Amino acid sequence: MRFGPEQCFLCGTPTTPPTDAVPVFAPWLMERYHLAERPIQLLDQSITTYQNLTISCCARCRTQHVEPLEAQVAEAASAGLEGLQALDEKTLFLWLGKMFYGVLVTELLTELNPLIKPRYPLAENAQMFRRFQAYFQTLQALRVPMEFDDFTPASVFILEADAAQPALPFEYDDDLTTMVFSIKLDNAVITTCLVDNGIIRQAMRGIYQQAQRPLHPAQIAEFKARVYYAAYLFNVVPDYYARTVQAADDHVVMDTLIDDVTGPVFNPWDNSGYGQALLEMWKPWHIPLAEIMQNPAQPLSYLYDESGNPQPVEKVAELLAQRPQDKSRLN
Ligand SMILES: [Zn+2]
Repeated sequence: MRFGPEQCFLCGTPTTPPTDAVPVFAPWLMERYHLAERPIQLLDQSITTYQNLTISCCARCRTQHVEPLEAQVAEAASAGLEGLQALDEKTLFLWLGKMFYGVLVTELLTELNPLIKPRYPLAENAQMFRRFQAYFQTLQALRVPMEFDDFTPASVFILEADAAQPALPFEYDDDLTTMVFSIKLDNAVITTCLVDNGIIRQAMRGIYQQAQRPLHPAQIAEFKARVYYAAYLFNVVPDYYARTVQAADDHVVMDTLIDDVTGPVFNPWDNSGYGQALLEMWKPWHIPLAEIMQNPAQPLSYLYDESGNPQPVEKVAELLAQRPQDKSRLN
């Protein structure tokens, strides 16, 4: 949990900047989606590029742990959506988690710069730090052979974007305080909440199951709004315990405990809060809040029609094409 260019992010070994570092977005990703020079805006409004986002990493962790992980995911991704779906959950968790960690620590280190006044100071968010500390224990599975006993540390969702709809080949977004991270690789959209012990996926299993079909990007945005909002409502931080290791053991077993006695696991769902999440996610389509909340008891949906049946992707494209264009937003 020590950040900075002088310690390996994973094992804490002293490192020599800038040599001992790995890119947050792996070289294969930057190459495949031409990201290296692409600008990226940090919370303090400063601009950097994808290739400048790095995490300090010792040579051992880089060659033994990070590079093999990236090679495994790169190979899976070369087979497209099915390749990614075939990856085991732990691998996806670690791969997404490494990128999330890199973005979050970049933001935290930027905040430490005394000349900088971030718009949303992360360092002042105590619950985020508790989440991050808990998460950091499970991220150690990247380095230490580790088995999670009877739980999965994260919710991971993989959705398929309908290839017939116009969309960018690569996108990523995150919410650092709730530890949600989402990345789009061609027609595969992977979204995760990294520290919920899989509870959000459990809560959304019906919707997730019905979303196992090619979706319109606006439907994927809606699904993501639900994940982001659920993560916002998620009210507990799991505790993790490593079992005592015996001499003959070749891995660590982690147990977990969620304290749901002192408070509910989720704060109550509030449609107006969810509406805000939809507004954010549907920005590319310029859908105003008034339209989203026209029926306050049932915010606008493209995943489902008014009777609650899954909406076909062609119908969504048609509905979006029919929407009145707000000319004031075009400039
Ligand atoms: Zn290391």
